[in-house]
Amino acid sequence: MSETALPPATILVVEDDPAIAMGLKKNLGFEGYGVLTAPDAERGWELVERKRPDLVILDVGLPRMSGFELCKLVRAKCPGTGIIILSARGQEVDRIMGLDLGADDYLSKPFSVRELLARVQAVLRRRGETRQASARHRVGEADIDVASRRVRLKGKEVPLSSLEFDLLLYLVRNPDRVLGRDEILNRVWGHDYFGTPRTVDNVITKLRQKLEADPERPALFQTVRGVGYRFLDAPGKKPRG
Ligand code: CA
Repeated sequence: MSETALPPATILVVEDDPAIAMGLKKNLGFEGYGVLTAPDAERGWELVERKRPDLVILDVGLPRMSGFELCKLVRAKCPGTGIIILSARGQEVDRIMGLDLGADDYLSKPFSVRELLARVQAVLRRRGETRQASARHRVGEADIDVASRRVRLKGKEVPLSSLEFDLLLYLVRNPDRVLGRDEILNRVWGHDYFGTPRTVDNVITKLRQKLEADPERPALFQTVRGVGYRFLDAPGKKPRG
């Protein structure tokens, strides 16, 4: 469930200009994405159904079936797939129409590779967050509902502060890993926060009091001496390493 363990995203490029399709394939591939290409909307749709790409980069001007029609189809049938529309025309009407039909973003040709990659990353990140936001996690006897930011223990709601919830979620998403206090501070509190490792200890203590069967002998939030913490999502399981 760790974010770093996710496989690289697959991106489908639907573009009838072979030079542009090739350039996109090369640049996206270089960034580590899996890249599929299709020269028209019909073959693009086939690939969407067969390969379920995470993101579709879609040219508006395609032979026969237009990029807009494919956009509508992808949005209706695969709501989790990101869509970025490409247009040579750069007209406001295309932009509005693309976004109306459910595209996540829009790029006018000519665009820089840098700009494209930034948009791709942003769309994938937002889509990923939406997927994760709908998640529920089961931890020991606690149920964590990410969307409503609520935690229930044996069916009873456990009030958590915003920081307690953020730290809990970070640990739940990185189970069975030794996490240093500094790493936790950076990832949960943010780089701008001038906290001390002691701050992390305090919030961990609160989480133990609220969620552990025996806070004095924690099964979930384990101390790793001199380093930080390890979260065990399946207490009783032997920790790795
Ligand atoms: Ca075209």
